Amino acid sequence: MSVLPILAFGDPILKAKAKAIEKDYPGLDVLISSMWETMYKANGVGLAAPQIGKSIRLFLIDASPYGDEEAELADFKKVFINAEVIESSGKEYLFNEGCLSFPDLREDIRRPPQIRIRYQDEQFNEHEETFSGLKARIIQHEYDHIDGILMVDRISPLKKTLLKRKLHNISKGNVSVDYPMRFPLRKR
Ligand code: ZN
Repeated sequence: MSVLPILAFGDPILKAKAKAIEKDYPGLDVLISSMWETMYKANGVGLAAPQIGKSIRLFLIDASPYGDEEAELADFKKVFINAEVIESSGKEYLFNEGCLSFPDLREDIRRPPQIRIRYQDEQFNEHEETFSGLKARIIQHEYDHIDGILMVDRISPLKKTLLKRKLHNISKGNVSVDYPMRFPLRKR
């Protein structure tokens, strides 16, 4: 297992709808271990497989850094395979989000407070659960990644226009970041 480079905004893999996987997906255990290592190295609380260049329906979350704010997040650590959101409910609200594919960028994103989701764990056991609060927030961010949807796809077109230069700089690698990344527009 190893720390993998995280794809920066602009890489087409981040925009693709990821494919479901089977239990015999080659090297899955090593991939999951490497994704944990990559996420911790980058001080993230979630990481989706497309962010490390694999267009498969896999993401993982460890929200323990938020344990001080919401006690039940202290041990919220999970792998989600082949997840499908069945239902989302409640009044949408804004929350300031970051993303490892967008270093130095934080944006208020509007999402519903509660979701019902079906997924498989690392052993491919089936689960169907309802999540709310910060758990639902983080899950929805990561779930978007496996559908090829990014944080900036959920802000207004005007705001996105205002961010154009900043986003271009992220794609070019003109950002300060202390974890390995791959920038689609960086000249080699
Ligand atoms: Zn993200």
